[in-house]
Amino acid sequence: MSTLFDKINSGADLDRQDLIDILKLTDQDDLERLFNAAYKVKLKYIGKRVSLRGIVEISNKCIKDCFYCGIRRGNINVERFELNKKQIVEGLLTAFNFNYGSAVMQGGERNDEKFVVMIEEVLREVKERTDGRLGITLSLGEQDESVYRRWFESGAHRYLLRIEASNPELYGMLHPADHTYERRMECLHSLQHVGFQTGTGVLIGVPGQSIEDLANDLMFFKKFDIDMIGMGPYLVHPDTPLAKKFPDFEEKRKDQLNLGLKMIAAARLLLKDINLASTTALQALDPVGRELGLLAGGNVIMPNVTATEYRPGYQLYTGKPGLDENSEQSRIALEKTIRQTGETIIYNEWGDSPHYFRRSGKR
Ligand code: SAM
Ligand code: SF4
Repeated sequence: MSTLFDKINSGADLDRQDLIDILKLTDQDDLERLFNAAYKVKLKYIGKRVSLRGIVEISNKCIKDCFYCGIRRGNINVERFELNKKQIVEGLLTAFNFNYGSAVMQGGERNDEKFVVMIEEVLREVKERTDGRLGITLSLGEQDESVYRRWFESGAHRYLLRIEASNPELYGMLHPADHTYERRMECLHSLQHVGFQTGTGVLIGVPGQSIEDLANDLMFFKKFDIDMIGMGPYLVHPDTPLAKKFPDFEEKRKDQLNLGLKMIAAARLLLKDINLASTTALQALDPVGRELGLLAGGNVIMPNVTATEYRPGYQLYTGKPGLDENSEQSRIALEKTIRQTGETIIYNEWGDSPHYFRRSGKR
């Protein structure tokens, strides 16, 4: 064990076997050492800083049927909603008025022209009303390159599209046959080609996934030279096909949390200067899960700025936190717990990753 930690602490490049060894750690003292080491790397490359992205969940209507997701097309128990243009703009401006500096529009996938135009109009209006000062990330699934370009030209500059599983076979087990791995890869290439700061990520701890798969996911992020990662533990939604494959989920919550935190730590140790989100799924497993994610190497948190009445409609998994809070309450609670970690929130900045500037030579 000491050789693994010697290597980690020396700052030497980690290889696939090191990542496997990290992901297999279970002893509490070893985990503490791991999280502390990753936190030190974060301090060196990012600083004691947390960036916030206010997230607006724009709609739970989706043309896709991913086996893990509570708002999948096939779930007939979901009451569908979509925010109109005005409501989305209001959500984004809430993020701006809270001085978050940056916001995310996320929702079920749609590719009809009416939807594409609506997103363009929202982007243009928000850019105009904030004098270009609000950074906007999109997370709206797979689209043609021409659509990505239209949205980029309308003012979005970051895009989050998870590969979900970098192993094509596992990808195939998590999705119906018409959701192909090749198409997902093509979209990730298109995003980079168009000029988006591109983020990706995986589901952590899904049925059928091995520790080796997760180590390969981390190597995939490195090879793809991504700027940001948004990944989190898989959580069960009972009305989905994947739930049946994880009958003892409730007993495994602590393991899911630890695996999520180990992945964050390993990603920070491997990729050093990227933006790394501490996601809501961690908070669903532990009330202070997102703060633990920051102490394991994360540097981005996405507080919800969606109007309270629509939050219950956007449940990817059961136990989503903050369902009955409003945006102001979410903000106050989060600011308090972040302060308790000793981290400083960065306000009024886009919070782009140092990796992006290094890669693109823009600074
Ligand atoms: N529809 C877009 C897409 O799939 O990229 C954006 C919204 S989708 C709900 C955002 C992410 O939620 C997905 O990339 C997926 O990894 C995650 N997600 C879906 N169901 C989940 C679950 N049961 N547990 C944890 N994360 C989940
Ligand atoms: Fe739709 Fe995204 Fe859920 Fe898949 S993960 S069903 S694309 S919302």
